[in-house]
Amino acid sequence: MRLIFILLTCLSATFAVAHQTEKGELAVTEISNNLYQFVSYAKVEGYGLVPANGLVSIADGKGVMIDTPWTDNDTAKLLAWFRKRDIEIIASLSTHFHQDRAGGIGFLQQAGVRTYASKQTNKLLLERGKTTAKFELAVNPQIRWQSLGVSRHQLEIFFPGAGHSTDNVVVWLPETSTLYGGCFVKSSRSTHLGYTADGDTEAWPSSIEQVMKKYSDAKRVIPGHGASGGIELLKHTQQLALSLSQ
Ligand SMILES: [Zn+2]
Repeated sequence: MRLIFILLTCLSATFAVAHQTEKGELAVTEISNNLYQFVSYAKVEGYGLVPANGLVSIADGKGVMIDTPWTDNDTAKLLAWFRKRDIEIIASLSTHFHQDRAGGIGFLQQAGVRTYASKQTNKLLLERGKTTAKFELAVNPQIRWQSLGVSRHQLEIFFPGAGHSTDNVVVWLPETSTLYGGCFVKSSRSTHLGYTADGDTEAWPSSIEQVMKKYSDAKRVIPGHGASGGIELLKHTQQLALSLSQ
């Protein structure tokens, strides 16, 4: 997990960091026109301070958040950061049920943001006594979600099969050929799959295969933790999963 900190350094060097004051503080970076990446942090027992990536896609001055920060506090800060720039966050999508993806759902709902997750993610959140998303995506092997019904957002949600978790989805942003992998995709510096207790490491390689086939033209691949890269991140994740069964 110490590697994550090295990766964060790489990330900072790659992109101009728009908002970063000290270690552990929410950071927001414009990575492309109308596309922002944020990094939030939480102290996780046994791992120390863990950064997690999320995205905000903008259309017509309205934002859709892909994954929430870990905490209510950082979620509030993120909304305020965009409000200051006259951007209203109108919806969020959590790509699986863990805290680094769904921890801010309750706060977002109170703030009037439309929260989305798959039916399976909501089921897992409910089982663990966590706040569920208000709107559910239908779960099938070929989920496509072209529009939120608000603004002009072009987001495609794809359920590749189990991997990091049984409910993980990836998000395709066609305008920038960006594939947001969440925790389903590891950074190139990751030497292991990380926390897999809720996942399926046997299914992961073939689930990754589905994503490689479908989004072979991805120009940017964003993992759940650490630095972004290209489609080699998918291959790397697959190899990490395969090495477990060898
Ligand atoms: Zn997770």
